[in-house]
Amino acid sequence: MNVVALIDFDAAGAATGHRLVDPDAPQLLVTDLGATRGDGIFETASLVHGSVQALEAHLQRLVQSAAMLQLPAPDIDVWRDAVREVGATLTAGGVTEGSIKFVLTRGVEGAGVPTGWVFGTDSPDFTADRTDGIRIVLLDRGYRHDVSQTSPWLLAGAKTLSYAVNRAVQREAARRGADDVLFVSSDGYLLEGPTSTLVMRMGGRLVTPRVDIGILAGTTQADLFAWAESAGFATGYELLTPDDLAAADAAWLVSSVRHVAPVRAVDGAARAIDAELTARMNAALDARTE
Ligand code: PLP
Repeated sequence: MNVVALIDFDAAGAATGHRLVDPDAPQLLVTDLGATRGDGIFETASLVHGSVQALEAHLQRLVQSAAMLQLPAPDIDVWRDAVREVGATLTAGGVTEGSIKFVLTRGVEGAGVPTGWVFGTDSPDFTADRTDGIRIVLLDRGYRHDVSQTSPWLLAGAKTLSYAVNRAVQREAARRGADDVLFVSSDGYLLEGPTSTLVMRMGGRLVTPRVDIGILAGTTQADLFAWAESAGFATGYELLTPDDLAAADAAWLVSSVRHVAPVRAVDGAARAIDAELTARMNAALDARTE
């Protein structure tokens, strides 16, 4: 099931509301800068049993990405209403687990008015990824870990529509017989997946890469750490290396739609998964409300 809402903007570029539209009808002009330049931003939230999970965190990150790209600040009340209505329509249609993507582009070239929409659909079955785990490869992203300080124009850490590279690395992973990717900085630090955040267990601590190294601050990782602290784990944001990954008791790639996927192989070498903790983590994420 697909559901689409368009965000309406006035001539000055201010959002005025939203409306549901036919999900099978074309809505975008071919001159939209989101399509022609990847000049825009997005968020993808998960919908589980009627709740749009981490909705406020996604809205805040949309605002932050907009600021990084100097796009007009999104009116989060308008976006929240649109996302909620798309979620409620999916839920009414029987969708128990879905994803809701919301997109803001710089709009049609020359018009000076952004384009925005919300797209909801059912999720595929992620049971195998969540329980059996995924095989990852480490790929050099080609940037140092201090890229956001030295070269902010590269927009590292913004959730932009320019994801062709993030798709290309998935194809490279498949060529290498793996399911997913963990980026490494050119100076040797673990970064993030193309659509996910790395979390590792070291004894009684859960750690994740620091977010000031040009990576996206993950909403799923944040919720997971909040749960982990209540469950008695220490948590930390650190500079981590491939040696740390090799030494970790367990590792996961976590993200809004797939949730927690344990890493069962790195660069072709099998590693143990922590099935019990993985199940607890996925249950904790599942139990989230908006
Ligand atoms: N890093 C990147 C580059 C991503 O695209 C995503 C999500 O798509 C994440 C991390 C995970 O973020 P979240 O947990 O908010 O989905």
